Amino acid sequence: MVSIRGLRKSYGGHLVLDDVDLEVGAAEVVVIAGPSGSGKSTLCRCINRLEVPDSGEVTIGGQPVPLEGRQLARIRAEVGMVFQQFNLFAHRTVLENVALGPVKVLRQRPAQARQRAQELLDRVGVGAQAAKYPAQLSGGQQQRVAIARSLAMDPKVMLFDEPTSALDPEMINEVLDVMKSLARDGMTMIVVTHEMGFARSAADRVVFMDAGRIVEQAPPEQFFSAPRSQRAQDFLSKIL
Ligand code: ATP
Ligand code: MG
Repeated sequence: MVSIRGLRKSYGGHLVLDDVDLEVGAAEVVVIAGPSGSGKSTLCRCINRLEVPDSGEVTIGGQPVPLEGRQLARIRAEVGMVFQQFNLFAHRTVLENVALGPVKVLRQRPAQARQRAQELLDRVGVGAQAAKYPAQLSGGQQQRVAIARSLAMDPKVMLFDEPTSALDPEMINEVLDVMKSLARDGMTMIVVTHEMGFARSAADRVVFMDAGRIVEQAPPEQFFSAPRSQRAQDFLSKIL
């Protein structure tokens, strides 16, 4: 579903992604772990060209992600992104936040988009908040709205970059539970997270990055019980 080959990116002479190859199959859930500064966010941002790689190729659903223009906009719509910050439109209701993209980008009829938005809000457990404004919701609720907003675009793949890092502890699980249910429903997912419990229970594969490279990758049970590299061992000993 997602194929990354030979991705390189540097900022001012500092190599941040150093020849990264990654294949993610349809319905696969890949957790990307690694120390701060290892290039996890940059990798995510290069997938849909929020960041322009220096070299390398990304294909989504067999289609190369084009350099610019309408084709790029179309591919971007197929890649849902959820960040640490929820980035909801403050002056729109929760329902409008979810329905807006489908109307503007996918040209859905407003009534149809609003109905689908309500269904998605129900699915992530915030259907009762549809008429409120983002500031009236808790962080966990806002992040679930952000997930619903991405789903409304019918993405082929969802990228999550530390979606629970800005949340109070008691709200983390409500967001992870939504992500687990997406995974069970067969969504292709790339998830950057420090939540190793999520990785253990929901990931098909853990990809460990350090200093711009993929150092090792393995199914979670193998990665957590017997990491091969010293760097992964050091990382796990700090966070577990
Ligand atoms: P964290 O766990 O802290 O989020 P990360 O693994 O996501 O880290 P990146 O954000 O991808 O790491 O950053 C990798 C490296 O690239 C870091 O050294 C960072 O300082 C650098 N970097 C990232 N974005 C930029 C930028 N726009 N300009 C300059 N340097 C950048
Ligand atoms: Mg990051």
